[in-house]
Amino acid sequence: MSDRDAGAEATSEPAADNPSVRRVSDWDAKRLRGLAAEYETPLYVQDLDRVRENCERLLGAFPDADVRYAVKAHTGRAVLEAVRDAGLDAECASAGEVDRALAAGFDGSRLHYTAVNPPARDLDYVVGVAAAEPDLTVTVGALDTLDRLAERGYDGRVCVRVNPGVGAGHHEKVTTGGAAKFGVPYDRAAEAAREAAERFDVVGVHAHAGSGIDPEQLDSHRELVARMGDLARELIDPDDGSADPLDLEYVDVGGGFGVPYEEDAPPLDLPAVAAATREAVAPLPASVDLAVEPGRYVVADAGVLLTRVNTVKPTPDETVVGVDAGMTDLLRPAMYDAYHPIANLGGGLERDGNDSPAPEDREATPVTVAGPICETGDTLCRNRALGDPTRGDLLAVGVAGAYGYEMASQYNSRPRPAEVALDDGTATVARRRETLGDLTAAERDANRHRAEGTEGVR
Ligand SMILES: *Cc1c(COP(=O)(O)O)cnc(C)c1O
Repeated sequence: MSDRDAGAEATSEPAADNPSVRRVSDWDAKRLRGLAAEYETPLYVQDLDRVRENCERLLGAFPDADVRYAVKAHTGRAVLEAVRDAGLDAECASAGEVDRALAAGFDGSRLHYTAVNPPARDLDYVVGVAAAEPDLTVTVGALDTLDRLAERGYDGRVCVRVNPGVGAGHHEKVTTGGAAKFGVPYDRAAEAAREAAERFDVVGVHAHAGSGIDPEQLDSHRELVARMGDLARELIDPDDGSADPLDLEYVDVGGGFGVPYEEDAPPLDLPAVAAATREAVAPLPASVDLAVEPGRYVVADAGVLLTRVNTVKPTPDETVVGVDAGMTDLLRPAMYDAYHPIANLGGGLERDGNDSPAPEDREATPVTVAGPICETGDTLCRNRALGDPTRGDLLAVGVAGAYGYEMASQYNSRPRPAEVALDDGTATVARRRETLGDLTAAERDANRHRAEGTEGVR
């Protein structure tokens, strides 16, 4: 029995020691309160042990595939090292991500740079890296990008990104499969790959449909995978015999494996997704691997954002609970209307100064939780029952490990939060809290260079 068959028979029952989801209520509340007291809030907590478990489940479901971590979901050094040790490759969307992945110890053979309208500076950098790491692969979604690589003397490994014309996605802003921005149109992809093969070593074809493959969207995922299988077969063994066959190493069908944000949403049945993927892509020659690129799935439920209640304001319409984390710390609710589970870990005081009762002993009235940013959209949730928060309560915002810190900004001149990594239970500061000085560092550098008459960095 081949590995592929063994994988297809994987059971859908999650292993007891590696459950398929970690809910916000599964975190040790006492530990989180301790971390907030020690490192202050807002604070991201990223559990590397859970990152490892997520990697293991992915490798277990796709035993014979190349599993590549889409670095943009969380680029913290400790996370990258954990993912590297677990055996995943790195899929990078920018020069900055390639730089981080190299620093975390990924060598060229495990680096995949996916260039989307790449700025010249990014191409210069990556072509430079490829000179030292010739096993690096550049995934290209436009003929212009091929020309720009050739102009820089690049003739190495290239993968052709295809717009498969079908898209998954939990929100229109994260659906990429149908958006013309991403990839060569499907019906021109074979031609583009053959043209690329004249100048580069074409090693694969790639499509990423968008984020949020969930049980209802399995059909569009299957369709995308089937189309990519067809394309690969056409390139490997052209039917009309007029084109030269390409020696592909892999068919990459992207990421987008969904995680349940809502408390009662079922976890993704990963073995079922894996089985559907293998079935839809088949048959491929034995020398051609399937590749997948999960980002969110690796890190999302390994992270929480801790934030402290500083204001409770009853109004005729609703009670607004003001906290110290906002859209600059966690953008997803404001940007995608995303739902994040929130647990009230208590610890606050009544207005008379007495300790508040434990949150579970309070009345659960629906509240809006709002951050400190001057934007109406700066809310973490609306109309949600959270055990009647009082000033000083600690809230844990769950499933915040993916696209959380990564999308943080300094808007409203707010320093980015701190992040601690938990490794086998031990906490270390992974990213220190930014200071007010960090906010003005680039400006002060520019002023200094002007005063000194030096050029500085443009
Ligand atoms: C963002 C991205 C991914 C990962 O998406 P997730 O939803 O986090 O799994 C994979 N591949 C590419 C090309 C991406 O841009």
